[in-house]
Amino acid sequence: MDSSPKQSQREKLEAWLRYYDDLNLGEFYTDRRTMGNRPTKRLAENAPATMAAVRPAIASAPLKTAPPIPALPIVNAPSLFEAVDRVENDTLERIREDLGECTRCRLHKQRNKIVFGAGNPHAELVFVGEGPGHDEDVQGLPFVGRAGKLLTQMIEAMGLQRDDVYICNVVKCRPPENRKPEDDEVATCSPYLYRQLDTIAPKAIVCLGGTAAQALLKTKDSISRFRGQWFDYRNTKLLVTYHPAYLLRNPNAKGDVWKDLQKVMALLGLKTKKASQ
Ligand code: SF4
Repeated sequence: MDSSPKQSQREKLEAWLRYYDDLNLGEFYTDRRTMGNRPTKRLAENAPATMAAVRPAIASAPLKTAPPIPALPIVNAPSLFEAVDRVENDTLERIREDLGECTRCRLHKQRNKIVFGAGNPHAELVFVGEGPGHDEDVQGLPFVGRAGKLLTQMIEAMGLQRDDVYICNVVKCRPPENRKPEDDEVATCSPYLYRQLDTIAPKAIVCLGGTAAQALLKTKDSISRFRGQWFDYRNTKLLVTYHPAYLLRNPNAKGDVWKDLQKVMALLGLKTKKASQ
């Protein structure tokens, strides 16, 4: 498989174009000045009869120097990518509907259920994990296995209930053998996560593990570079901590996670049960 940066860029672009198709935005070009009057490849493919008729005419026409294409005025507005990034009047129901019985990436092949997310649609706090595991895939709910039970304990230690927060993942289908999702799978699925976060508009996002952090912070850095620090994600505070599954394997890291969660509690004005008694 070609995993060059060019190939990865192409996969990301293809994922965005599929996403825009889903939003019924149709085709667009990022730089019309370079397109001129040339027919696009897709037009040529879709209209073979027309092109066949045009080609002889072009061939027999005397060669002329093409007149310069006037430069289009540069508009200081958000780019199409930025504008479409946020869907007006979006709701979680609409996002789920848009996702449908998704087959946009290879992860659909072995999944049982799409795990969209669960919890309070107006939550002040959203937890974002990597992807569903076996139990989640069976039940269609996020964080319901052993790691999920630990997450519930973490949430309750913060003085909250699971229903107070929203929990979701970067990819909505279980990667086979619980492997890490591939870059193209993350790129294809994450626009739905971005929409979920925009719609819920929480005060704080906690990324559980490196994959969620990398998807939201658009970085390849390892979790050790940013764990426990606050970042800005589209004007929302974002903090990265260890995934509960990592804590099951490395219980010694629980202290670090508790310190991270206390930062979130301070931001949200939460007190531990002991402190509030
Ligand atoms: S992981 Fe996301 S993009 Fe891939 S098939 Fe599942 S829902 Fe669709």
